[in-house]
Amino acid sequence: MLVQELVLRQRAEILHALCSSGSAEHLEQVLDILLSRGELIIEDYQNIQVPGRALYTNARQLLDLVHTKGSDTCALFCAALTHVLPEGQRVGFSVPGRCSHVEEKEEEEEEHQRTSTQTLLAQRPSLVRELQGCIEDALRALVACGHFTSADCDDVRLPIHTPSQQARRLLDNVRSKGEPAAKVVLQYVQQKQESGSLLNQENWTPPKEVLKYQKKLSSSMSAQSCFLSSYGGTSHMSLDDIYTDGQLELAHNCKDVHGPLGLEDIVGTAGTVNAEADTVLVSGDAGGGKSTLLQRLHLLWARGTALQDFLLLFPFSCRRLNSERQELSVQELLFQHCCWPDREQEEIFQFILDHPHLILFTFDGLDELKQGFSDEHWLCCPTQRAPVHILLFSLIQGSLMKGVRKVVTSRPEAVGPALKKHLRKEVILQGFSPSGIDCFVHKHHRDPTVAAKVLESLQKNTALLGLCHSPVFCWIVSQCHKELLGCGEGGPQTITDVYLMILQHFFQHQSPLKSTTGSGWLQENLNTALHLGQLAFEGIGTSCYIFSGTDLEACGVTEKDICMGFLIQSKDMSSTHSKRFEFLHVITQCFFAALHIVLSNNTDRSTIPKLFEPPNRRATGLRSSTCFGACLPSTNQQEQAFKGEATSSETPNLQITATFVSGLLSQRHLSLWLHCCPSAVMEKRVRQVVRCLSKGMHKHFKSISPPVEGEKKSMHAMPGFVWLIKCIYEMQESTIAKDAMSKLEVDHLKLTYCNIGPVECTALAYVLQHLRNPIGLQLDNNSVGDVGVEQLLPCMHICNSL
Ligand code: ADP
Repeated sequence: MLVQELVLRQRAEILHALCSSGSAEHLEQVLDILLSRGELIIEDYQNIQVPGRALYTNARQLLDLVHTKGSDTCALFCAALTHVLPEGQRVGFSVPGRCSHVEEKEEEEEEHQRTSTQTLLAQRPSLVRELQGCIEDALRALVACGHFTSADCDDVRLPIHTPSQQARRLLDNVRSKGEPAAKVVLQYVQQKQESGSLLNQENWTPPKEVLKYQKKLSSSMSAQSCFLSSYGGTSHMSLDDIYTDGQLELAHNCKDVHGPLGLEDIVGTAGTVNAEADTVLVSGDAGGGKSTLLQRLHLLWARGTALQDFLLLFPFSCRRLNSERQELSVQELLFQHCCWPDREQEEIFQFILDHPHLILFTFDGLDELKQGFSDEHWLCCPTQRAPVHILLFSLIQGSLMKGVRKVVTSRPEAVGPALKKHLRKEVILQGFSPSGIDCFVHKHHRDPTVAAKVLESLQKNTALLGLCHSPVFCWIVSQCHKELLGCGEGGPQTITDVYLMILQHFFQHQSPLKSTTGSGWLQENLNTALHLGQLAFEGIGTSCYIFSGTDLEACGVTEKDICMGFLIQSKDMSSTHSKRFEFLHVITQCFFAALHIVLSNNTDRSTIPKLFEPPNRRATGLRSSTCFGACLPSTNQQEQAFKGEATSSETPNLQITATFVSGLLSQRHLSLWLHCCPSAVMEKRVRQVVRCLSKGMHKHFKSISPPVEGEKKSMHAMPGFVWLIKCIYEMQESTIAKDAMSKLEVDHLKLTYCNIGPVECTALAYVLQHLRNPIGLQLDNNSVGDVGVEQLLPCMHICNSL
């Protein structure tokens, strides 16, 4: 068949293949190839790509034109089509033996002498690919040379265009500016290619001073990351011995990615949704292993066994950045907070600026930063000083140090749309798989009989097994295995039970000979609990997670209290500060804050009601008076935080604290407090919590809209509803659950996007089983998994659909 005839006969199929996805990308790629090979001229291109016209019309116009141009053009068109279409769609369009090597021909022609403008056209397909990941940098280069105005940049950047369309607009705009502008773009792309492949070139070595700095950076990082800090108080555990892979998944469906992700995939190309962005987010719940995962990456990089495309890696902890009160430039941020170069600071920083693709930044715990992410203020100048959070947000957006890859970790609650639009991709850390739990317990207990016993007792206690998918609980359960194995039937069910178990374990670990029966262990250590409780409570109220000696003193924390092991010395890469402390984990801090609320004689009457208020209404009356100077960057910000809404880190922490308060005030634990606090006070606090939970539930039920005629009555629950359910579960009192459910009258309960995992399923089943009438339960877009479904079994009888 003549190739022209083929184009005519297969017109419908070709149109379908080019346009049916609704995206113009395939058509535009074909046009790029035809332009680069001179089969189309610019005027043809402009006649085809008429802005605002339907995609199908543009494609038809191209087919008409190609047909009239004759068989050579048709042949190249078919080759281009085969080149750009995915495998399954190309069938039938190739013309055997004719012009099928689109890219090779391009390279051959590179040999010819051309002007820069001609090269821009001849290399159009590859230039579009190169430029789409770095439009901003290319624009910056063009502006710096005076070839582009800010209006030109805005025209390229129009957000309705995809990155590849922006790259094409940039090339079209540059062509109209003439030869010098074209030269700048070609030089820019060449430089980028060189820096990107530098590390892969055998004969390229970075400057000596940079290599020296890399050595210093990696040796201090290796020292900082080789032990796991949660074992610091009791024993040293090397990360190599205990690290167990968590489950990593892409947040977005991606057809090219199958199976679980590995550690290196976090920075790899798999699942990229915005190739122009540099920031990868790793999200996961508190205690889910985000910091440990970064620690692992740091250690592997420092040893030269992973992430070797990056010459320098700078690790930051947002928790520690909170206490930086000075305005800093990026250079100061890197050198003061990570590693100080002994010599030639300027040269090293210049190297970093010149080779952004060789640099990786990690920011752990964005949710712990006092200021929630915002892209309203940003900087572009690497030498300008600014408050640390502005630097951080500018780096994440890429207005500063574009091209440097950044990995940020955060709890999902703190990730809003402002941050999402700057993400290259989002990876979710789901905690341990069932075999991960098994593996962790075996690593923790070298004695296989002990490991087998722990696992056996976990299999018998499904609620606890559900909790162990979160590494922090797995750690506690393994740490407290003696208590766990000693408690026979029953055993811990709720997160409060588990934390009480570790409280008892740590207290008794320090004074093993003293009373171990009844609640004696608590009474003996009541002062420690109260001191740490106050420190934790004050810290949660002011988003403070690192404490100075003065903070400790203000709350009466003594050396003996520190020795209990709940407070660890804060690791600091720069080690310029005096000794600072933090709780083993932020959940431990929430637990002590809850202990303070429950046990302290000074707890304000309004504290419990405020704790249970929805976040947007919660005034920050949860703070008391101590200084905490080190944590508060400035009076202004302090005032803002006091007046304003809860900061990003506050909400989840206050919610976790409220969950613990519910658990600690459960009837099951009241005997523990008998000798610590008057029972009348305790009873009153219990009543307050029960009232708050009931009121909170009622508010959710009131928001249910009446059913549309002919449709079922449905409630779309918010994450706050799931939190209240978890609080009710912590109380372990079926009367409260029954009471709450007696007022819920719906046929359908929608719990989509509520961050529901196995732990939440246990709580849901506990409460929903008391529903009066059957409901349909919708749980799409959560991470329920097989384990979660198992946890839901107790409420299956009341679900008519799931
Ligand atoms: P996050 O940063 O998500 O709050 P962490 O990384 O601090 O969670 O984990 C809490 C604790 O759980 C750690 O201190 C450690 O004891 C344990 N842990 C977390 N991830 C792992 C892992 N991959 N392997 C072994 N233990 C882990």
